[in-house]
Amino acid sequence: MNNRPVRVRFAPSPTGPLHIGGVRTALYNYLFARRNGGKFILRIEDTDQTRFVPGAEDYIIESLTWCGITFDEGVHIGGPYGPYRQSDRKALYRQYADELISKGHAYYAFDTPEELEAERKANPNFQYDSSTRSRLKNSLTLPPEEVSRRIDTGETYVIRALIPANEIVEVNDHIRGVVQVNSNLLDDKVLYKSDGMPTYHLANIVDDHLMEITHVIRGEEWLPSAPLHVLLYRFFGWQAPEFAHLPLLLKPDGNGKLSKRDGDRLGFPVYPLRWTDPKTGEQSSGYRESGYYPEAFINMLALLGWNPGNDREIFTMDELVQLFSLDRVGKSGSRFDPEKARWFNQQYLRMRTDRQLAEEFLPILKEKGIETDLDYVEKVVSLIKDRVNFVKELWDHGWFFFEAPESYDPEVIKKRWKTETPAVMEKLIQQLAGLNSFDTAVLDETIKTFLTENQLGMGAVMNALRLCLTGASIGPHLTDIMAVIGKEETLHRIRKAIEKIA
Ligand code: GLU
Repeated sequence: MNNRPVRVRFAPSPTGPLHIGGVRTALYNYLFARRNGGKFILRIEDTDQTRFVPGAEDYIIESLTWCGITFDEGVHIGGPYGPYRQSDRKALYRQYADELISKGHAYYAFDTPEELEAERKANPNFQYDSSTRSRLKNSLTLPPEEVSRRIDTGETYVIRALIPANEIVEVNDHIRGVVQVNSNLLDDKVLYKSDGMPTYHLANIVDDHLMEITHVIRGEEWLPSAPLHVLLYRFFGWQAPEFAHLPLLLKPDGNGKLSKRDGDRLGFPVYPLRWTDPKTGEQSSGYRESGYYPEAFINMLALLGWNPGNDREIFTMDELVQLFSLDRVGKSGSRFDPEKARWFNQQYLRMRTDRQLAEEFLPILKEKGIETDLDYVEKVVSLIKDRVNFVKELWDHGWFFFEAPESYDPEVIKKRWKTETPAVMEKLIQQLAGLNSFDTAVLDETIKTFLTENQLGMGAVMNALRLCLTGASIGPHLTDIMAVIGKEETLHRIRKAIEKIA
């Protein structure tokens, strides 16, 4: 049993932008920490310098900040267990590699990359393990003086874990249950390289121990490494954390893991924020720039793998904290559904007041060179918000509230603009010009009377009128549009249409 105060960590490698699967891992760690009154730590695992990508660490931090996922300790805020970037901890790993050697749980290996390549060529299933190590070039096969000589003369070497032969290694996983692996299937993983860098496996275990991590919650792709990690804890004589390996996020069709390449190819982002590859300049879209609310994005991710045990779908972060438990994380992969992602955003958009939406819409209007006031935008928003999933779509559904149409849909003209229409519209102008009030109720009444008095059909007038005001057959209730744009603008647009539609 683990009675230590809960401490969990998110430990990304800065090898590129954070994939939404990574955000979900961070989210579940965050929810678990908050639910259990524990601490949440951000550790950067950058021991593999060959895969380092500039800007990735900042991107990770900015993404999580946007999502509202906060930390108690980490590379960006410090804390009592720092430093929190493995390259800044470089000096402390060597002693742990040495400790394993002196305890007989690790050894030096001198095989060159070419020699190992030749082994692999001769046998594609080759692995450095209990069946092969006794014929390879290492401190288990070479005389001690020879080993010392090679090290002293600066020969390149690695330190490998000495995996015991034919033993059942057990990983007790919160999600998978008890996973058993025969140690013969494991290879003697490299733990440390003579360039002074530990590998992921050593650094990860040492840091989780030193940072007193109680639960390791991470993606399922790390499950195969877990038996080695369990063995390393045992070799050191340390208490292992509890493990929870999260199921994969799958492609929308359910066939395979959602990969970095899927995003823009299938028409949805796989990254929280837009990312520009520093090498190629290639851009990938992000949820933030696509107009998602972070709350909607987080709500959607929370339900991709975890369920509350009922049909409810909308949760604030605080509610998720109250309800989250690892017991309700499923075993099977969760299919990513881009349509559902949009639906979540729509739900959050509908929870906003018209005033809030107007404030969010205003900068988009400004960008288009439209100067208007908040009260006016608020009225527009109230009429069209039900038609959109994103604030930026408000423009497509309501541009005609801000500018008169410059052209008219030829299809609609053909169908709705008859020879007698200009005369009817002229008459309507007369009728409308006389009105003192121009609200929806008055307009509805006026038009109704106008139709009866002139023995005109609803369709004949209303569709043509809509064409005058919007240039097409789009938009909300017609008299609502008229009431919002006002009398002067309405009359102006009808006159303009009569002139322009020949
Ligand atoms: N650095 C690993 C990664 O990039 C962390 C795996 C773990 O959480 O142990 O995912």
